[in-house]
Amino acid sequence: MSSEQTRRRVSIFGATGSIGQSTIDLIARAPDAYDVVALTGGQNIAQLARDAIRLGAQVAVTADAARLPDLQQALAGSGVEAAAGRTALVEAADRPADWVMSAIVGAAGLEPGLRALQRGATLALANKESMVCAGPLMLRTAQAHGGRLLPVDSEHSAVFQALIGEDLDAVERVIITASGGAFRDWPVEDLAHATPEQAATHPNWDMGQRITIDSASMFNKALELIETKEFFGLSPDQIETVVHPESMIHALVGFNDGALMAHVGAPDMRHAIGFALHYPERKPLPVERLDLVALGQMTFRPACETRWPALRLAREVMEAGGLNGAAFNAAKEIALDAFIAKQIGFTRMAEVVEEVLNRLSTQLCHIDDLFDLDMVVEADHLARTQARQVIAEDT
Ligand code: NDP
Repeated sequence: MSSEQTRRRVSIFGATGSIGQSTIDLIARAPDAYDVVALTGGQNIAQLARDAIRLGAQVAVTADAARLPDLQQALAGSGVEAAAGRTALVEAADRPADWVMSAIVGAAGLEPGLRALQRGATLALANKESMVCAGPLMLRTAQAHGGRLLPVDSEHSAVFQALIGEDLDAVERVIITASGGAFRDWPVEDLAHATPEQAATHPNWDMGQRITIDSASMFNKALELIETKEFFGLSPDQIETVVHPESMIHALVGFNDGALMAHVGAPDMRHAIGFALHYPERKPLPVERLDLVALGQMTFRPACETRWPALRLAREVMEAGGLNGAAFNAAKEIALDAFIAKQIGFTRMAEVVEEVLNRLSTQLCHIDDLFDLDMVVEADHLARTQARQVIAEDT
């Protein structure tokens, strides 16, 4: 086989973000192994253009149509095509890449991922919101078109790896670990006064601003619990959370013979990204090898739903099913925007989301197999409108 034939065609959605940059780091280490088809970003035009030129991408796309002239200017003379806007972003997923990284933040990542699956591509899914909003639709689409979904969230990659070669019927439970985020040691009564700057500092992981704040509120973990249910077809009572401040164990799978298989590794997303990039093979990755003696000990604490009400809401959403995940995520995104803009306090975020779910409970489809993309978009829109309304009522 010639080297041309062995090169893999890859696209990275959300290339300018934290996951996107880690993916580029891995791909750039093996320039002969990959042809880069599309890179997409949002506001960070300089980074997008720099990486597109460096990797020789076919096309660079910014989601913001108004930034097209900037992108064209940054790419002038490079031979990389420039495109902009929501439609161009989604159409970039139609380009024939074999492996597509889905690393846009938020519900905006859903449609490009679905389009890649419709082409039968392998979709490496960092964008957890896709599974939260439309897990059954993602799985149906992959199955119908011969696409493959691989988890990139470290917890889901850990579960996936622990399940290799196992009988799914022998799984009793999955334990998802949580670092506890920036405020895990704060007195609960102080949380109402926490600022966005304080929430955006993660003790263990270096991540984007939004997911770091979501770690402090445990909304990130809440999304991951829902993602676990969808990805692995578990019932809500099979999914547990435990706070593990060292973030060395990413998840554990408990089997019916009492065995508990843990995935242990340094907190570096390049492991899960690299695993998905090379799957089903394992290849060397530039991640730290753990020294267990130096680590000394690993500790665990209960994940308290009073401190982190997002965990209780996640359980309710998993039990309700259907489009409740889409509404939950959308309301969370609006509440997070409002917290970042200092319109609402830290603890108000969960109250806003709960209020939105209560107000919409009779309007949302509760049946997993009965919704399509339009219905997801509609639920997302309804929840955003309702969340803005709830926040406006505060003032
Ligand atoms: P970042 O905020 O660092 O990056 C987000 C990316 O999405 C950027 O490329 C950004 O462009 C782009 N983007 C933002 N808004 C839009 C939009 N409306 N339309 C299209 N593109 C957009 O996020 P992360 O990399 O931290 O996270 C990405 C996803 O991966 C999230 O779903 C997150 O939950 C998940 N994840 C992240 C982990 C991590 O360690 N960071 C771990 C596990 C999962 P620009 O910056 O140019 O504006």
